[in-house]
Amino acid sequence: MDQIYDVLIIGGGPAAASAVLTLKNRGKSAAVVSNREESASLYKAEWITNYPGLSPMSGAEMTALFRRQIEEAGAAVIKGRAISVLHMEDSFGVAVGSDYYMAKALIVAAGITREKLYPGEGEYLGRGVSYCATCDGMLYRGKTVAVIGAGEEARHDADFLESIGCRVLRFEKNGRYEIRGDIKADTLVFAGEEHRVDGVFIIKDTVSVTKLVPGLVYENGAIAVDRRMQTSVPGVFAAGDCTGKPYQLAKAVGEGNVAALSACDYLSGK
Ligand SMILES: Cc1cc2nc3c(=O)[nH]c(=O)nc-3n(C[C@H](O)[C@H](O)[C@H](O)COP(=O)(O)OP(=O)(O)OC[C@H]3O[C@@H](n4cnc5c(N)ncnc54)[C@H](O)[C@@H]3O)c2cc1C
Repeated sequence: MDQIYDVLIIGGGPAAASAVLTLKNRGKSAAVVSNREESASLYKAEWITNYPGLSPMSGAEMTALFRRQIEEAGAAVIKGRAISVLHMEDSFGVAVGSDYYMAKALIVAAGITREKLYPGEGEYLGRGVSYCATCDGMLYRGKTVAVIGAGEEARHDADFLESIGCRVLRFEKNGRYEIRGDIKADTLVFAGEEHRVDGVFIIKDTVSVTKLVPGLVYENGAIAVDRRMQTSVPGVFAAGDCTGKPYQLAKAVGEGNVAALSACDYLSGK
């Protein structure tokens, strides 16, 4: 960590791209923390026919356009998954894997995750449940851990945990996992079987926003914002699908623009 960005944006979809372009026009430094482009809702859209100014094209093509614009705007693109946000007096720290980034303001543009938390996941997060092997692996040296997840990151994390001396149980199938315990998580239940574990590493593409930023107020499962896209936490703005319906491209792009302008006002003390 050697730089404090003016604004850090969590998410790399249309809302984030729009925010980046506006921040660039206002001369602000910006960084975007983003998962793989295939994870954006837009990427999954077969055909977009309702975006003004552009001929119909596939969601994948449009995602590539937005990603290119983010890079051409000169924003730092941090590839990975933001796993936690720490709110300090007048800045924010965002953990991405074992790296840490600082910014004066934050825009959450993380879309929606249709994946629900597993029973026990939220309850034991930080008490036996972790989203990051590099960050927490050393706590489990010589112990038994479960790694849930099928992607490259999950494989990599499982290998890492083994390399530092953990006994690793791999769970790659989709399904209903449940984490149980007492003060700490100590049991993973899957497919009717109980597994005694000291820790559970859950490696998904996204982290539910409800677990990402402490202190945010939600309404009907979406981040509550005012017309300036200001959330309940001063200095934190939100845009796009994560603020609720309608889940539409044009709405995400408009909100990204408003959030960026409001972040600029916040930075200048307005
Ligand atoms: C199948 C389908 C078809 C659609 N068709 C249309 C259509 O025809 N017209 C239309 O207007 N809209 C359509 N939509 C909706 C549109 O795609 C969304 O409204 C829009 O993409 C929302 O943009 P967003 O930036 O808010 O979120 P997203 O596009 O979902 O982007 C959010 C990004 O943030 C990333 N992210 C989340 N959490 C983290 C984290 N912790 N760390 C790092 N990155 C993170 C996600 O992985 C994702 O890449 C469709 C959606 C789907 C799924």
